[in-house]
Amino acid sequence: MRTAEVVIVGGGIVGASVAWHLTEAGCRDLLIVERESHLGKGSTGKSMGGVRAQFATQPNIQMSLYSIPFYAAFEERLGHPAGYRAQGYLFIATRAKHLDYLETNQRLQKSLGLKQVGMMSREEIVDMVPQLRADDILGGSFCPTDGFVDPYSVMVGFTTRACEQGATLWRSTEVTAITHDGTGITGVETTQGPVSTRIVVNAAGPWAAGVAGLAGLNLPVEPMRRMLVPTEPFDGVSHQVPMVVDMTTGFHFRPESLGFLLAWNDPQEKMGFNTNFEPSFIEKILTLAADRVPCFENLAVNPKRAWAGLYEMSPDHHAIIGPVPELRGFFCANGFSGHGAMHAPATGRMVADLILHGRTAVVDNVEVLSPARFAKGELLHETAVL
Ligand SMILES: Cc1cc2nc3c(=O)[nH]c(=O)nc-3n(C[C@H](O)[C@H](O)[C@H](O)COP(=O)(O)OP(=O)(O)OC[C@H]3O[C@@H](n4cnc5c(N)ncnc54)[C@H](O)[C@@H]3O)c2cc1C
Repeated sequence: MRTAEVVIVGGGIVGASVAWHLTEAGCRDLLIVERESHLGKGSTGKSMGGVRAQFATQPNIQMSLYSIPFYAAFEERLGHPAGYRAQGYLFIATRAKHLDYLETNQRLQKSLGLKQVGMMSREEIVDMVPQLRADDILGGSFCPTDGFVDPYSVMVGFTTRACEQGATLWRSTEVTAITHDGTGITGVETTQGPVSTRIVVNAAGPWAAGVAGLAGLNLPVEPMRRMLVPTEPFDGVSHQVPMVVDMTTGFHFRPESLGFLLAWNDPQEKMGFNTNFEPSFIEKILTLAADRVPCFENLAVNPKRAWAGLYEMSPDHHAIIGPVPELRGFFCANGFSGHGAMHAPATGRMVADLILHGRTAVVDNVEVLSPARFAKGELLHETAVL
């Protein structure tokens, strides 16, 4: 029977990062099992690629403080492009409570070592993005090291190097069962046959609850559709602008190719695996776009180029990372709630550390992200979810 020290279920950006970090740490006997014939068909290939350290809680900020410098050095370290562009994230506030919120967050961000973040006046915001409608803007916050990556390229880079360092990738192979002896993992069943292992990493993105269910575990991760609308080429706004987030409506956009990528999380969206793009979304998002950036009224959009993918929502919008207490050898790398691309490097390091050493220094208190927190009722609270 095939054996592996570690089996990673899911070959998206998270499974790839876990694999690379494990091989870097010297654990070479590992198997990535991906049910699709091509990598990136899950959330990774649908992502907007935003990376930011402007969060409201310590674990999210610290995961970004590992991941963003990692992305900055990715190409040098892995010899493969991450597509990191440090164009920043600009949050714009039109209400006093939003400004208070940004200021409070910045105190925490700075206390954890994010030096570059700063508050912005309306004038500074208009200087940065002159096309914004600014009559109601009170101020905002900006961090120049935030920006974007190419999640697909990152995934390929991690996987390629992990495989060069000993990892094996099985494509077109589904994990169909996870076996255990009552206390610990003994193996997995796959469509290519059984694999004997003591350690399984759940990196199945929006399908994570189903994979946990194969081991008889309850994991509170639910899929939720998110839609993105790329525009046709447009040069009425500079392509050097940051990711701009209108805090009043949640509309955000960033430059992409010769046009822009428009995003908005419809509060009416329900949990579920629906990934059909809803054409009526285009009119809704263009209305929000033209309201904040009047020249966006002239944007052209080809509905055939728009797409939908799935966020992997956890109950408190924070990642679920670490071993489950009920079953020795089952590790979670799940529930990123839309931040899995930016937090993949930190997650890979944390999961590798936890498997190999039982502890990690990436965040001060990794147990707050433990899957055990839900049973204990110790949920985290993050309000800056995009
Ligand atoms: C529209 C959209 C915009 C987004 N924007 C951002 C953003 O700006 N910034 C950001 O950080 N994140 C963003 N995200 C979220 C980000 O894309 C995800 O958090 C991230 O890709 C999760 O990666 P993953 O590897 O965990 O999951 P996935 O990429 O979904 O990979 C999981 C893999 O597991 C495989 N799998 C599942 N079950 C099995 C099984 N039983 N056997 C074998 N294989 C299995 C699947 O086929 C899949 O390939 C966005 C997501 C969407 C949809």
